[in-house]
Amino acid sequence: MSSTTEEKALTPETIENLKISKPAINSVGFGGIAAAVSQVSKYMNVADAFKLGAKMNQKGGFDCPGCAWPDPDDERSSLGEFCENGIKAIAEEAQNKTIGTEFFNKHSVDELASWSDFEIGKSGRLAEPMFLTEGATHYQPISWEDAFNKVGTHLNALDSPDEAVFYTSGRTTNEAAFLYQLFVREYGTSNLPDCSNMCHEASGSALSETLGIGKGSVTLDDLYKAELVLVVGQNPGTNHPRMLTALEKCKNNGGKVVAINPLPEAGLVRFTNPQNPIKLLTGGTQIADVFVPITINGDVAFFKAILLKLLAEEEQKGGVFDKAFIEEFTQGYDAFIADLKTYNFDECLKASGVSETVFNQVFDLILNNEKIIICWAMGLTQHENAVDNIREVVNLLLLKGSIGKEGAGTCPVRGHSNVQGDRTVGIFEAAPQAFLDKIEEKYGFKPSAKHGYSVIDAIKAMHEKKAKVFFGLGGNFISAVPDTTYSAQALGNCNLTVHVSTKLNRSHLVTGKEALIFPCLGRTEKDYQKSGLQLQSVENSMGVVSSTKGVLEPCSSALLSEVAVVCGVAHATLKDRSKINWLQYKDDYNLVREDIAEVVDGFKDYNTKLKQPSGFYLPNGARIRKFKTTTGKANFSINKLPNWKLKADELIMMTIRSHDQFNTTIYGLDDRYRGVYNGRRVIFMNREDMQERGLQEQQLVNLQSEFNGVIRKAPNFKVVGYDIPKNCCATYFPETNVLVPLDSFAHTAKTPASKSVSITVKAV
Ligand code: SF4
Repeated sequence: MSSTTEEKALTPETIENLKISKPAINSVGFGGIAAAVSQVSKYMNVADAFKLGAKMNQKGGFDCPGCAWPDPDDERSSLGEFCENGIKAIAEEAQNKTIGTEFFNKHSVDELASWSDFEIGKSGRLAEPMFLTEGATHYQPISWEDAFNKVGTHLNALDSPDEAVFYTSGRTTNEAAFLYQLFVREYGTSNLPDCSNMCHEASGSALSETLGIGKGSVTLDDLYKAELVLVVGQNPGTNHPRMLTALEKCKNNGGKVVAINPLPEAGLVRFTNPQNPIKLLTGGTQIADVFVPITINGDVAFFKAILLKLLAEEEQKGGVFDKAFIEEFTQGYDAFIADLKTYNFDECLKASGVSETVFNQVFDLILNNEKIIICWAMGLTQHENAVDNIREVVNLLLLKGSIGKEGAGTCPVRGHSNVQGDRTVGIFEAAPQAFLDKIEEKYGFKPSAKHGYSVIDAIKAMHEKKAKVFFGLGGNFISAVPDTTYSAQALGNCNLTVHVSTKLNRSHLVTGKEALIFPCLGRTEKDYQKSGLQLQSVENSMGVVSSTKGVLEPCSSALLSEVAVVCGVAHATLKDRSKINWLQYKDDYNLVREDIAEVVDGFKDYNTKLKQPSGFYLPNGARIRKFKTTTGKANFSINKLPNWKLKADELIMMTIRSHDQFNTTIYGLDDRYRGVYNGRRVIFMNREDMQERGLQEQQLVNLQSEFNGVIRKAPNFKVVGYDIPKNCCATYFPETNVLVPLDSFAHTAKTPASKSVSITVKAV
């Protein structure tokens, strides 16, 4: 009996043979080296690994397809400008297995869906285009031309272009992303949801409103020179590992680091730099000077308590606030202070879950320093009040004048190598009119000004059959989004689902009536076109655009680049009604960049600037105290405490990554920093909460969430006692995305609230 679309979307509910040990209190070191070597030996050709290692994140080399941590502008490490998880990322892409007709003849979609995400991901690189016709059980090979025409037929058969959804994952380069949005807009819609809708959209909203740019203001050099770095709701040890090197440099320069996180993550405790033999032999560097075990979503309360005490100091002694900066560069101070005074310090501190002792340690560091940088990630952005979280952080930096000067500012750390670049070159469902006007001026067609679907809107539209075609440029949509069962039904309603991917993932198995898989070149592979070997470009978390050029020969001759796929689909869909010569772009990407230079601010002389070994910085007003806000100043804001309440037997759950994971890619089944081996269906619980529920270590439990009367279930998880605040718990995604309600998202930004889900935990 064939499994349903919903069942195919869920990771198998296997009862795993877990091994649990004490969490690590040190990170990287020999363990990091061993883990990297093990990945290479298991999945790669060693010669390729050395070739790639020598070029990864090096000037003139290729950009790591992992996170968006910047490379040093100056000296790059000759020993290797990469981390363990960077090696895992290339081992995934340059794995020496490929899959094509024979594989798909052997394995039905149903059978593949019964595999774990780890097994699916390790089945090999996709080697040729595949098609699943309606009612079929197995994918069949298809030619590129037929495949493009099939997409064109489906798109042109729709009653409106708004019935199609065009998703982008953060791996897509600037060139492919720019052409993709151009095609979608010429086709006639703005339905351009992307992965930043699910991660830093709240950062973009809050920062655009308060500082006039939706990106961080600091450079890597600022981090080295900061007096104080607050790392909030972020786990750099796993998600941005080279950030630890920057924090180590900051500490060597006398800086202090504070980690604010419900979990005592190993990377925030100690870092053993594998490139420093002395550190390797002497146990590394302590990273956090103060660890703040905050309760989940206790951030506004914590920062409001800090602001209240700073205000008290300012009113008593003065000289605490940077009055000159506030006077000259900000707006809204009086209203902000008036609102702040309506709060009670003790209530805020209690709501944060932080002890007075720890609070005072942090307070003293903030009081006595001016060069302050605040870094954050999903721990602040995936809540219903995410925009408030980030605006409150900005309020603190404005009071201290810690914006737009050396060693100070905002630092939202992006999790995917070009997620910021995609947005910069136009992947945005709510693009500003000025950008659309530039498109019209340049290409002679009028793009739709109607805002398109974000990720959450797109899922609802597909579920309500308002959208009938889903096109995914990279990514693993079904495993990345919340509310897995509902989202699977939505994809199942489509006439056609298409995925442009390097390797197999669960989204290829949760299909519309018809489905296509387009295998594309990876970041590590050479991209040959008519004009020769092509260069592409990406933008890192700090707004530096740099080039990337593949090193290895493609693993299959049937692969196309993302640029070629977009041009092929555009040509087959728009045919001669297009005003654009799509096929010329794929022959020479310099032509794409010449157009970007005309349409996107900051890219003038793009091709020339891209030849600079370290690339070039995009303009950033907040970095130079030029705030392009509605007031022309940096805006103080008024933020509320979150108002959710847990019912008696409920806990608040946050979804997290394991150390062997990058977004939805599962590199392995171990999470050595948290002491979990050989499994992923675990729930990290506070030991008092376990006791109150009569639960033992490794006891099998079922998880359940209820939201607006809808019950969602996730069975067969094992309990792991952990140092996590009371009433808080943590699980890995995508396993528990099924519990995250689609309707629970950040106001204004619509980022899914995957870090604050109320659940119950019951013994099986
Ligand atoms: S820190 Fe991020 S970008 Fe750098 S090598 Fe590691 S995964 Fe890649």
